[in-house]
Amino acid sequence: MQRRKFLYALSSVPAISVIGKVENHLNKFNKHIRRNSKMAKFELPAIPYAYDALEPYIDKMTMEIHYTKHHNAYVTNLNKAIESTEHEGKSLEEMFSTISKLPVAVRNNGGGHWNHSLFWTLMKQNGGGNPTGKVAEAITSTFGSFEELKNKFNSAATTRFGSGWAWLVLQDGKLVVSSTPNQDNPLMDVAEVKGLPILGLDVWEHAYYLKYQNRRPEYIENWWNVVNWDKVNELYSKA
Ligand code: MN
Repeated sequence: MQRRKFLYALSSVPAISVIGKVENHLNKFNKHIRRNSKMAKFELPAIPYAYDALEPYIDKMTMEIHYTKHHNAYVTNLNKAIESTEHEGKSLEEMFSTISKLPVAVRNNGGGHWNHSLFWTLMKQNGGGNPTGKVAEAITSTFGSFEELKNKFNSAATTRFGSGWAWLVLQDGKLVVSSTPNQDNPLMDVAEVKGLPILGLDVWEHAYYLKYQNRRPEYIENWWNVVNWDKVNELYSKA
């Protein structure tokens, strides 16, 4: 962190300034993605609720496997991919900004770790309902209504071929819906739509197959019942 602050303070390089901004705005809410020291390994963050907290919309077994197997594997493989390389001391955001030049294992596992760390915080027991606070106003002014945002978001999530994510992104102060393949995200230089993700949905089959099998649209529709709007609003308001 000291090194990062030093670089950020001295920086006349726009890329570093953007990275600093992203880190300031997103990682203060996701401290578990940060490492305690420059060379510390990335760690699986604590999940902020019980595996069955999102029932009946997301089942206990899916949550447990998703977190303890899939997310855990991204963390393990990310650490392996950067061990003893020049990337070992970097933040994920720093790596994402030039991810097209990095090994594909860093892109897939770094994205996997970051995306899931955010994803868990975007859901909660007894979530859902209408958006709150400033993000609610922004959704209405941008999309016309919450229903219209859902239509756009659901469409992005449903039509993402194969594995990937749907996103609500803050781009230059405006809300945009997008999707990315695999474990890519809007912070990566390869993303078609770049910006700060404030809401994201995992549409990999591992996220829903046990309960929904091939019925991805049903999973997407039900997922809105567990969205943590407090978190989305916090990410939006601090950005
Ligand atoms: Mn996943």
